[in-house]
Amino acid sequence: MRGINTLTKNKKKHNDDFSNKGNKINFFIKKNRYYLIIMILVIGIISVVTFNIKHFSKYTNTESNISSKNKVENKSIDYKTIKPNEAGDVMVIMYHSIDNKAKHFPWHRNKKEFKEDLEYMYKNGYVLISMKEYLSNDINIPAGKTPILLTFDDGLKSCFSLIKNKEGKLVVNNDTLIGILEEFKSEHPDFGSGGVLYITENPFEYDAYYNNKTEGDYQDKFRVLTDLGYEIGNHTYHHYNMNNLNKNEIMEEIGKVNNLVYKNNNKIPTSYLAYPYGDKPKEENLKAVKNGEYKGVKYKMQSAVLAAPEPPYFTNPINKDFDPYYISRAIANSGQHMDMYWYFKYYKKHPEKKYISDGDNTVLSIPANYKKNVNSEKTKSFKTIFYDTKTYETIE
Ligand SMILES: [Zn+2]
Repeated sequence: MRGINTLTKNKKKHNDDFSNKGNKINFFIKKNRYYLIIMILVIGIISVVTFNIKHFSKYTNTESNISSKNKVENKSIDYKTIKPNEAGDVMVIMYHSIDNKAKHFPWHRNKKEFKEDLEYMYKNGYVLISMKEYLSNDINIPAGKTPILLTFDDGLKSCFSLIKNKEGKLVVNNDTLIGILEEFKSEHPDFGSGGVLYITENPFEYDAYYNNKTEGDYQDKFRVLTDLGYEIGNHTYHHYNMNNLNKNEIMEEIGKVNNLVYKNNNKIPTSYLAYPYGDKPKEENLKAVKNGEYKGVKYKMQSAVLAAPEPPYFTNPINKDFDPYYISRAIANSGQHMDMYWYFKYYKKHPEKKYISDGDNTVLSIPANYKKNVNSEKTKSFKTIFYDTKTYETIE
């Protein structure tokens, strides 16, 4: 601030000098060259600051900023430091429920392990997103961060339940996965939010391994989950292997869960499916997964997840190799081939393969070597920038 005041004074003085001395400009420049140099420097600094404020502003018109220059370094996105890759892999994680024993089946988690998982994700730059954000790649997270999508299968009550607080109000039971996650989020507000709970019949009523308290009806449960930013997914009514079902049976299995949610969650249908056991229906029956109807209520599934990583493994919905009805998931466990921690280690070793945000959700910043695999239909609503990872220059 002091520098700017000095500048204003000097500027005034110099302006007076100009009007008085007329054509003796050369003499003036020589005499006041140090003042002039300082002035030019200060004006330069002010310009740079103004430029940056404009560029980092939320309401920046990114398109006009980008069109004029070809050197990526000149823009608000620091490519060299952040190395964004918004066509990079996004991990989808599969949780089920709580089993508090130290040794348990790999698809359960004890509370301590779950807390450690969240701690690991947070410390390693992962930020939670929803399925909607994942599928659209419209992901609004800070520069340098990596999105991650958590999913929870089977609708067990150790995953989510409600209890009454002292005032008699229904609140999330802290003794559940969602309760622990909500507590962690309140302590780490920059951890993001989102996640899909794939339910079957009698959602959040039973649990074979964990006997926690639960209160409230379906409407209460769906409302609380939806208000907290979770999505209710469809895991079919009876959890049958879909490969053994015909089209009508598939429609009934998906439709029954869809109707339950539609009826009890403000007419919001389910849009995301998890195949029971990760088994896809026969190819000719896939149509009944995508669109169907049961007892007058229609459904339209936008995605379906598997129960393990399968080729092309983790990718990104804007890539040509992405199939929304064949989305890989890693089991939330450690010590197994291709489980969650196996992938965490993999992406630590190969950070160039994972999604890294540029911090601007109107712009997709993508390394040039990804260009051949990007589906241009999926990038239409964004300003897409491909850049050379060595020179940091944009590539047409
Ligand atoms: Zn299941």
